[in-house]
Amino acid sequence: MDATIPGGNPVVPTRTGTTSTTTGTRVGPGPAGWSVGVDVGGTKVLAALLAADGAVAGTHRIPTVRGPDGLVAAVRTCVRALAADHGLPLDALSGVGVGVPGVVDPATGSVEHAVNVGVEHPFRMADAIAAALGDGVPVRVENDLNAAVLGAAHTVDAVPTPRDLAFLALGTGVAAGLLLDGTLRRGARRAAGEVGHLTLVPDGLPCACGQRGCVEQYASGRALQAAWPSPDGRPAPLVLFADAAAGDARAMAVRDRFAWAVAGAVRILVLTCDVDRVVLGGGVSGVGEPLLEAVRAELARETAASPFLASLRLAERVHLAPRDVPVGAVGAALVGRGEVV
Ligand SMILES: [Zn+2]
Repeated sequence: MDATIPGGNPVVPTRTGTTSTTTGTRVGPGPAGWSVGVDVGGTKVLAALLAADGAVAGTHRIPTVRGPDGLVAAVRTCVRALAADHGLPLDALSGVGVGVPGVVDPATGSVEHAVNVGVEHPFRMADAIAAALGDGVPVRVENDLNAAVLGAAHTVDAVPTPRDLAFLALGTGVAAGLLLDGTLRRGARRAAGEVGHLTLVPDGLPCACGQRGCVEQYASGRALQAAWPSPDGRPAPLVLFADAAAGDARAMAVRDRFAWAVAGAVRILVLTCDVDRVVLGGGVSGVGEPLLEAVRAELARETAASPFLASLRLAERVHLAPRDVPVGAVGAALVGRGEVV
C-alpha cells in the first residue's frame, strides 16, 4: 500500500515556519505526539524534534559515520540528545523516523542498499535502531526523498497544502520525491522520481548509470562543480552564481546552461505528474533566490515560444525549499509518528 497522509492533510495545524535549535531548553514532557525525524546524509546526520502541533522544537546535527553500526549509533545519539535537551523521556516519543538515501522497504524498515552511507547489503535498520534505543519507541525508515517531499508539503507556505508536490533534490545527483494526490508515490520498483536519469542531451555526457546525456550530468551539484570548480573552498554553486552576478560572461553561460537543465527536470515533473509545486532542495538550493530566478527565467523563456507550456504556468510552480526548516528531518518525523503507512 502506498503511503497516505490521513485525511490528505499532513498534520498542519501549525506551520513549521521557524526552526529553533533550543538546545538545553526544557519544555517539559509534552503531549503525546512528540516525534524525532532523522535525515541521514552522506556527510551529516540532521535530526529534528517535532511537537504534536507540527512545529520544530529543536534540531541536532552530527557528522555521518558510514556503515550500519555507525548509522544506528548516530541516530541513537541524535534521538537521545534531543529528548534530553527537552526533558522528554524516550517513552514519551510517539516514534522515530529515519530518512535514508537509498533503497528502503518501509514495511519492514529494511535498507536494501544505500551506498553513499556505507550500506551495501540489506540491513534491518528500524529493528536495530529500536533495539539500540530501547523503551519500546517505534522506529520507521523511509527513503530520504520520500521523507523530504512529506516535509516540504508540511512546511510549504500554501493553504490548502498542495496534494501534488515534487521535491527536486539538486545534490551530488538529481532525483525527486513525489507526493501525488496526497500519497507518496514510491513506484513498483521504488524508482519513481528518478528523473536524473532521463535523457536530456542525446549522445551527451556519459553517466554512471550506463546511459549518456542524463539530466544528472547537467543539473546536479557535481556537474556544476565540474563546470565551475571552486577556487577557494566555497561551495561551487555559490561561486558560480556570484561570478555570474558580477558579470563574468563565461560564468553567466555556465549558470544559464545549469538553469536550463534544472528547468528541464521541472518540465519533466510537471508534464508527467502535473504537480502543483516543484520544491528545489539539495545542496545547490543553498544558492537561494538567484537559483530560483535563473530557473524561472529559463522556464519563462521556454514558455514564450509555446502557448502549451505557457498555459501550464511552469515558472510559478517552482519554489525553493525553506532555508530555516530541515524538510528532510521534518518529513522523517512525520514518518516516525506513523502518519505515513
Ligand atoms: Zn544516468
